[in-house]
Amino acid sequence: MKKEDLFRGALEAKKKAYVPYSNFHVGAAVLGDDGKIYTGGNIEIASYSPTICAERVAIFKAISEGAKKIKAIAVTGDAKDTFPCGVCRQVMVEFQEDLKIYIVNSLEDYQEFSLEDLLPHSFSNEDLS
Ligand SMILES: [Zn+2]
Repeated sequence: MKKEDLFRGALEAKKKAYVPYSNFHVGAAVLGDDGKIYTGGNIEIASYSPTICAERVAIFKAISEGAKKIKAIAVTGDAKDTFPCGVCRQVMVEFQEDLKIYIVNSLEDYQEFSLEDLLPHSFSNEDLS
């Protein structure tokens, strides 16, 4: 997989975000350990709390369709350098495997992070054993 394919997936998914209340579009694309790319846009609901971020839409699609782990995620939003929220970072902890996180503004303008960069000292399933 070329990372540009992942970036393209996130940029395309952003266009499909359902955001009638904030009008803030976010797109995400995930590379599963099955080699497939899964995408998602944020979805807002009028009563607010059922609203879900693009990152979790893409991750849950990957897991529900057979991927066991996620290897990379690209995130893009209406603001320059849109980063994942804390909830999505915790979901990444659950399913990540050497996860690369790309914060994408365009195919040429992006930054790469590790999960340790974005969520150091995280709580994970290893803490439960
Ligand atoms: Zn989030």
